Amino acid sequence: MKRVILHSDCNSFYASVECLYHPEIRKKPVAVGGEPEHRHGIILTKNIIAKKYGVKTGEPLWKAKQKCPDLVIIHPNYPLYLRFSRMAQKIYLDYTDRVEPFGIDESWLDVTGSTGLFGSGETIAQEIRNRIKAELGITVSVGVSFNKIFAKLDRVQ
Ligand SMILES: [Mg+2]
Repeated sequence: MKRVILHSDCNSFYASVECLYHPEIRKKPVAVGGEPEHRHGIILTKNIIAKKYGVKTGEPLWKAKQKCPDLVIIHPNYPLYLRFSRMAQKIYLDYTDRVEPFGIDESWLDVTGSTGLFGSGETIAQEIRNRIKAELGITVSVGVSFNKIFAKLDRVQ
């Protein structure tokens, strides 16, 4: 029997969660990064607007500020991100108990045994995208394939 594997990845995870809690910055370039008050640290995530300015994950904050002087830099709030991560996991567990988290914002889901109940891999992927958007307020990309690698490469937003 062919396996059905989903890979779910929260988009711009930290930045998306911060924008939920700070609606006033939603339309601004936003990055989450370490120690902005000391100009130390690096960009951990950025939203799509910051990306358009060429802000890159992993680059020093000062360099990102050079490219995008209006960049709003937010110190990471890991307990908050962990809460969202757990809420996403809870949704995944409604479809299968075979969930393998990878880092804080990615998971593989083996839904091979769930398709009889919930429909095809694509149907489950779409339902997960809709539910995460409706219940958590953030977006996820979900890929579907017959193994973990191809599921990760098959990203649909
Ligand atoms: Mg991600």
